[in-house]
Amino acid sequence: MRDIERLMRRDYVRALRRWLGYRELRSLVSAGAKVWPQLNHERIRLKRSELADISGRLSVHLSARPHREADGMALRGFYVRKSESALKRPLIYVNTAHHPAAVGATFCHEVGHHLAARLFAGKKMEPVNFFYDAAYATHLDDPVELAADVLVSLAAYPEPIARRIFAKSCSGGLVARAQHLSAEAVTQICNHLKRGYRVDFTRSGQPRRDLTYLAGMVHFAKLRWGILAEYDL
Ligand SMILES: [Zn+2]
Repeated sequence: MRDIERLMRRDYVRALRRWLGYRELRSLVSAGAKVWPQLNHERIRLKRSELADISGRLSVHLSARPHREADGMALRGFYVRKSESALKRPLIYVNTAHHPAAVGATFCHEVGHHLAARLFAGKKMEPVNFFYDAAYATHLDDPVELAADVLVSLAAYPEPIARRIFAKSCSGGLVARAQHLSAEAVTQICNHLKRGYRVDFTRSGQPRRDLTYLAGMVHFAKLRWGILAEYDL
């Protein structure tokens, strides 16, 4: 619960401004649009069967397997960069024990790493990027993780939907600071996830699991709001 409160308080516009300039964001979007032409125009919902095909096109090894033991569920996936000595091709692992929507988001995040690797070429990067549930707050302090998450936010909330959810109807303008989601926005986000991704926070009967998914919901929604507020995209 504390993770969610922390995310609720964070200023996403500031994180974006600090780590991801408009130009970098644009190049990330155009790189993403080569993988998903409908990116930021239509909602992207990945099917399990598509993951291998996309990985193949990107020349990335894919490992999609369930991992449940002990705290294994906390691991959502990882991206391993290629290296002279060990890996000829980069590797994406996704933990398929999660909800299909979460698996899709993880895959999208790892593809984000793959695309950002070129975008941030020259900057020092970790050889492996792990994605753990509830580590979202740390993503705001890391340009590489933030870029990967931006792709997920754009895939889940394309511009027309983002404008509908995050634009304040009473003033006609956008809330400048992506700091507090209004109750109305939260309701709309929940409806969007329920309709589009069959994620229902009120029904699964797995409170602990739901809390970490809820943290993800807050994170990706606030990030999307921040992109709209800061870059009008
Ligand atoms: Zn990551």
